[in-house]
Amino acid sequence: MAVTVKSAREIDLMRTAGKYLAELHEKMGEAIRPGMSTMDIDRMGEKIIRSYGCTPNFLHYNGFPASICVSVNEEVVHGIPSEHRILKEGDVVSLDCGLIYKGYHSDAARTHIVGDAPEEVKLLVERTKQSFFEGIKKAVDGGHLYDISNRIDEYISQFGYGIVRDLVGHGIGTKLHEDPQIPNFAQKKRGLKLCAGMTLAIEPMINLGRGDVDWLDDDWTVVSSDGSISAHYENTIVVNKEGEPEILTLLD
Ligand code: MG
Ligand code: MG
Repeated sequence: MAVTVKSAREIDLMRTAGKYLAELHEKMGEAIRPGMSTMDIDRMGEKIIRSYGCTPNFLHYNGFPASICVSVNEEVVHGIPSEHRILKEGDVVSLDCGLIYKGYHSDAARTHIVGDAPEEVKLLVERTKQSFFEGIKKAVDGGHLYDISNRIDEYISQFGYGIVRDLVGHGIGTKLHEDPQIPNFAQKKRGLKLCAGMTLAIEPMINLGRGDVDWLDDDWTVVSSDGSISAHYENTIVVNKEGEPEILTLLD
């Protein structure tokens, strides 16, 4: 599939899809507390998405059974919500979800700490988020795709964390996953030339230990192989003609 460049009208629709998703993440982040099940988060999230008149794009995607991926501690991504998984103080909870507005997708992830956690865990979460902001500095018209990958790798590697290599960012638009794939680790080549109107979901997934991952028997949940805590941060962005990209899934 070719990489698509969106028109001003399409970007406007994606801006709305992004704004709703940013609001959703704010609301879910405020609601997280000990004693809540991961299923509670999914129910709440789906209800909010539908209240916007939007559709959850993760629900039934390749058979995924829920609207919100809720991944706790050593779970990296694609955690399946469950009534039996009760959040407790110190848990690290990554929420990944998206929605469709008038045929256009948004996709974003946030990692929250339930209550308090050790300093090294707080730093992992902060630095994973920062690595996204480092990467997007390179998402400029005329730049190259892998400049983003290289910058994320360069920033994260100084801390000795493990970058997850088996899962990557992606283009997004009328489909949740479009070309190109966007690795979060250094590449030998420069990759395709970026141009204004490309819409990308950039999403570093970083482990406190090594970057290797395994898939659980549910065929969805991805966990760090060494059991170390993992963090995830993602936004949908659009490359601009000049200057920094616009982040569609963050509130002003
Ligand atoms: Mg996502
Ligand atoms: Mg994504």
